[in-house]
Amino acid sequence: MTGLGHSPSRLLTPTGGYLRGYDYTLNPYIGCAYGCKYCYVQALPVARFRSEPWGSYAEAKRIDPEDLLRELRGARRRGGTRIFMSSSTDPYQPAEWRVGATRSILLTLQSEPELVDFLFVQTRSPLVARDAEILASLRHRVLVSVTLETDREDVRRRFTPRAPTVRARIRAIEALRAHAIPVQVAVAPILPSSPDFPRLLAALSDFVAIDDWFIGDGANGRRSRALGVEQWYLPDERDAWYRPGQARDFAELLAERMPRDRIFLHQQGFLPLDVRRPFDERIDPEHA
Ligand code: SF4
Repeated sequence: MTGLGHSPSRLLTPTGGYLRGYDYTLNPYIGCAYGCKYCYVQALPVARFRSEPWGSYAEAKRIDPEDLLRELRGARRRGGTRIFMSSSTDPYQPAEWRVGATRSILLTLQSEPELVDFLFVQTRSPLVARDAEILASLRHRVLVSVTLETDREDVRRRFTPRAPTVRARIRAIEALRAHAIPVQVAVAPILPSSPDFPRLLAALSDFVAIDDWFIGDGANGRRSRALGVEQWYLPDERDAWYRPGQARDFAELLAERMPRDRIFLHQQGFLPLDVRRPFDERIDPEHA
């Protein structure tokens, strides 16, 4: 089900925990129609207390530009406005084509860009390229992060059958970069890929964020195991591709193709750019 017009009291939610470095999260939708098999959100109370299965609903929030500007001005008075969009859904749902909730948010931010310190846009949808001109106008305050866990379409279909294709995401990234918008590829979680993937990533993006099932789930792999992630690997893939340390090993491989200071591991890859530490700085695992 997709819906329109859920009216929240506020759009900006103060952050905490994993999203340190940000002041607020902004989720234009409730639920997510991509329904990735491995999605951690499906195990959170926000999803478990719904009667419909995760992946079957994505309700757009009603966006009132004046209310959003009022919230931003209040946030600005209280401190910073570093915003993570989105933490528990993808801001470019299939319904976004017709609903335009995320586009409405971006247009609002564009109208008073000085109210935004930094906007991190996390998506796996090529629809983000539709908003390239708006994002380009915010380019000194924005980073678009496009998830691309693999370059293999067969693997993409196995783990995320309803997500956009590899090819469509690559085209979207190219379109964003053609507008000089800062773009990172989020290889998160890292999945089995072809030997050409590092070369593609180096050519495709300004930054690469890499995460795996073990540190990336925030629970040393327990949440990943609870979701049964291992079952989606082919027997001959498991040893090489489902193991702790895989993200760091892939980062080393990638560093043969692109500068190390453009590669980020685990949580570092999702922080505002100015507070990140590149992957070869040893980072306390608790703050990885
Ligand atoms: S796109 Fe993100 S939020 Fe949506 S189901 Fe996939 S992992 Fe979960």
